[in-house]
Amino acid sequence: MHKLESIAENVKKCKKCELSETRIKAVPGKGNFNADVIFVGEAPGRNEDIHGEPFVGAAGKRLDMILEDTGINREDVYITNIVKCRPPKNRVPSKKEEESCNDFINQEIEIINPKIICIMGNTAYGTLLDGKEITKNHGKIIEKDGRKFFVTFHPAATIYNQKLIDELKKDFKKLAGFLEDGNQVKQFEDRRCDFCMAKTKHEVVVMPKIVTRKRRWLLMSLKFLI
Ligand code: URA
Ligand code: SF4
Repeated sequence: MHKLESIAENVKKCKKCELSETRIKAVPGKGNFNADVIFVGEAPGRNEDIHGEPFVGAAGKRLDMILEDTGINREDVYITNIVKCRPPKNRVPSKKEEESCNDFINQEIEIINPKIICIMGNTAYGTLLDGKEITKNHGKIIEKDGRKFFVTFHPAATIYNQKLIDELKKDFKKLAGFLEDGNQVKQFEDRRCDFCMAKTKHEVVVMPKIVTRKRRWLLMSLKFLI
């Protein structure tokens, strides 16, 4: 069993805090175990509690929409929450609940060892970076203990504030940019010159793991043109 699968099993049977008494299902993180980026929300809501999966309700639809707009495939990333069980009436989790649950997020980060951890919203910002004002610090990379964090708004915040959607989309594009910059590797391959037939080294673009579908198409076309 993969280490992340055994963490998920431990989450499902965890009774470390009182949220275990009111949850329907605990919600372990889900996604690609080799992801370059982990998205971290606050806690499961009503739909997540029913299905046992993160970001499948209204906030999840927003997240899907923004990922799609950025061209990031949900299957390529890992999505999780600070607290794995739903707080009653979707209240903000208490410090005690966050602390009880902390081991899980730390283990997920340790095992996946992503290039960037994308913090979505104030709860994750507070827990992971001791941060407060997301409005002042969103769209930035923050380094802590040798890890890179990217701070942005919680997708649910955009449901009640349409203006935020553009900000969030801009942030996600920046995040995709950081991932691609770090990922692109220059490679060279021998090709014959179309005119003199001499063999020369040509630079080819190696596809980063996270690329937009639109860009993937563009990169493929570029490869043919070089
Ligand atoms: N909000 C979150 O923070 N996480 C979810 O999984 C769903 C809604
Ligand atoms: Fe365990 Fe976390 Fe659920 Fe509390 S919220 S019961 S610590 S999994």
